[in-house]
Amino acid sequence: MHCLLYWVLNQKSIKMKTHLFIKIIAFLLFAGNIQGQEKALINTANSKFARLKSINIGDVQWTNGFWAERFELCKTSMVPHMMCCYLNDSVSHAFKNFKIAAGLDNGEHVGPPFHDGDFYKIMEAEIMVFAVTGNKALEKKINHIIDIIGRTQRDDGYIHTPVIIKELNEPDKKHEFVERLDFETYNMGHLMTAACIHYRATGKRPLLDIAIKATDFLYNFYIRAPHELAQNAICPSHYMGVVEMYRTTSDPRYLELAKSLIDIRSMVKDGTDHNQDRIPFKQQTKAIGHAVRANYLYAGAADVYAETGDDSLMVALEKIWHDLVEHKIYITGGCGALYDGVSPNGTSYSPSYIQQVHQAYGREYELPNITAHNESCANIGNLLWNWRMLQITGDPAYAEIMETVMYNSLLAGVSLDGKAYFYTNPLASVRGISDSLRWSKHREPYISYCNCCPPNTIRTIAEIQNYMYSVSDDGLWINFYGGNTLNTKLSKGKVISLTQESDYPWEGKVKLTVNELPEDFSLFIRIPQWADQTTAKLNGKAVKAEIKAGEYLELKNKWVKGDIIEIRFPMKPILVEANPLVEETRNQAAVKRGPLVYCLESPDIGDGSRIFDYRIPSGIKLNPVQIKIAGAELTALEGKLLKGKSPNWKNSLYREISTQKPESVKIRLIPYYAWDNRGISEMTVWIPLAR
Ligand SMILES: [Zn+2]
Repeated sequence: MHCLLYWVLNQKSIKMKTHLFIKIIAFLLFAGNIQGQEKALINTANSKFARLKSINIGDVQWTNGFWAERFELCKTSMVPHMMCCYLNDSVSHAFKNFKIAAGLDNGEHVGPPFHDGDFYKIMEAEIMVFAVTGNKALEKKINHIIDIIGRTQRDDGYIHTPVIIKELNEPDKKHEFVERLDFETYNMGHLMTAACIHYRATGKRPLLDIAIKATDFLYNFYIRAPHELAQNAICPSHYMGVVEMYRTTSDPRYLELAKSLIDIRSMVKDGTDHNQDRIPFKQQTKAIGHAVRANYLYAGAADVYAETGDDSLMVALEKIWHDLVEHKIYITGGCGALYDGVSPNGTSYSPSYIQQVHQAYGREYELPNITAHNESCANIGNLLWNWRMLQITGDPAYAEIMETVMYNSLLAGVSLDGKAYFYTNPLASVRGISDSLRWSKHREPYISYCNCCPPNTIRTIAEIQNYMYSVSDDGLWINFYGGNTLNTKLSKGKVISLTQESDYPWEGKVKLTVNELPEDFSLFIRIPQWADQTTAKLNGKAVKAEIKAGEYLELKNKWVKGDIIEIRFPMKPILVEANPLVEETRNQAAVKRGPLVYCLESPDIGDGSRIFDYRIPSGIKLNPVQIKIAGAELTALEGKLLKGKSPNWKNSLYREISTQKPESVKIRLIPYYAWDNRGISEMTVWIPLAR
């Protein structure tokens, strides 16, 4: 250590001395010591402005029920199948790009510029499966991949295979940060996130060391880069990544970098609503533009707030969040109504001002169903953002949005066998519209043009257990439900051990058994907004506290081993209507049971009629029935809908309404996430009301 200090003090430049001191202090601060809740997926253990802390990776283990089944499918089908695609050169060039950039293979970069980032996402999913299962063969595979990735990195920390391969082939030309749409920072952001998780899950540093070099590169780059390069922040996954690197290493430069990444957005000239940089972020009040970029930006800004408490960030985030949930989100939690469109700020009085948007939020209440874009990555970005808001505030409204996404727009992204994926998530699908939509109406095993969504979906499903609980100084927060065990040790040595048994969302019963819980801790149990008339018992006696839907129920007790809490949520199917300003759903109803949105799909009709021939009576009685689709068990709902006679609409747009009396027929509705698993079909979430 003395020699090291002597060497640092002998550096000529003061800047270099300072830089080296910071590095040494940061290294000493985190040198191999991960304490308390610092091994969480998103580590808010030391975030001064986050009320809640996360549970460490691996502390929650699924036992049985809905999410245990999804994790099993993730482990046995989604991860191996998708990793196989990525390692197979004839399907995906992503891993081959790394091998070429590492000098282990020859050729050109093939695939989209964000290929590296998507490969990091499937790697993150594999790391999470390893963290839960401890599968040694998986660890060996991950280590091999990390070794190859490390070999591609330049000495200055830059890592991005499209440019590194160009540099190998044309060493005399400058290639880095030349193409605005080159996704360099997006890729590095996903590397940082995967690296933090790998380090927290394994305690090993190889991937983290690569990410540290990459973050150092970005820090040095942004110090000297012209402000126009802020526009290179396409799809800013690196805002989240850089803050997570700060949380892992305690290097203050990384927080400085994260703050400046948001601030430099305001210096962009000729910014666009599409890229959320037409006006400075802190002045923004609307969810706008490309929905993936938007939600990643909001999640990253929330991360910066959790560390800095910069109120101007939270003011913007809260306004944007209200705009989203009051005007722009789908009932499934889907985000980004438009395939293509114009910014709502465009005006026909000034045509030159009209700005294109793409894969984007639309105007207020503009929520089409057949053409709903709802990219899976945007829905996931929404979940990531809301998790951060929940950790910051403890407000269950954010958990409500997360749960809606988890059970609907996230799960719809993957087939029931875990082998095929959606890029877009519409709320209706019909035959008879000739305009082709760019993205497939059916799930695909590998989306060759742009496979960003499948690995994002997989890593999110692999990580759901990390969202189940939070802790604060005064209690344990039960955010979501599903059979699992929780065993965790807090930084002050307190132990939490709890078993949760539940067949939620198929049933509303949840049983919590305390194995160990600090005596002075409260249990905060989230009561969903739809769960009026929830009941709760502690050791067989009804709890005295008032139970309010949409709030956390606080239970205090002198906890002892064997204490049992039983919650019963009402799982009654309900009909939901939308604000009438949503033209596309006026006079229609959607069916929900608990957090699940249901849909009508043509395989459940079976007589050749069209899904639009049906009306749903407002007083319909719907009965849960157990069925299997593609081998997966689920709860469908059966009830009587009114069926009109299918008119022949060929070559006609309008007709006189039929006076024929509709017939009452028994129809089955299935969870929205389970559609498109029985061949080509028609589907709709919203059904016209018969009042
Ligand atoms: Zn995507």
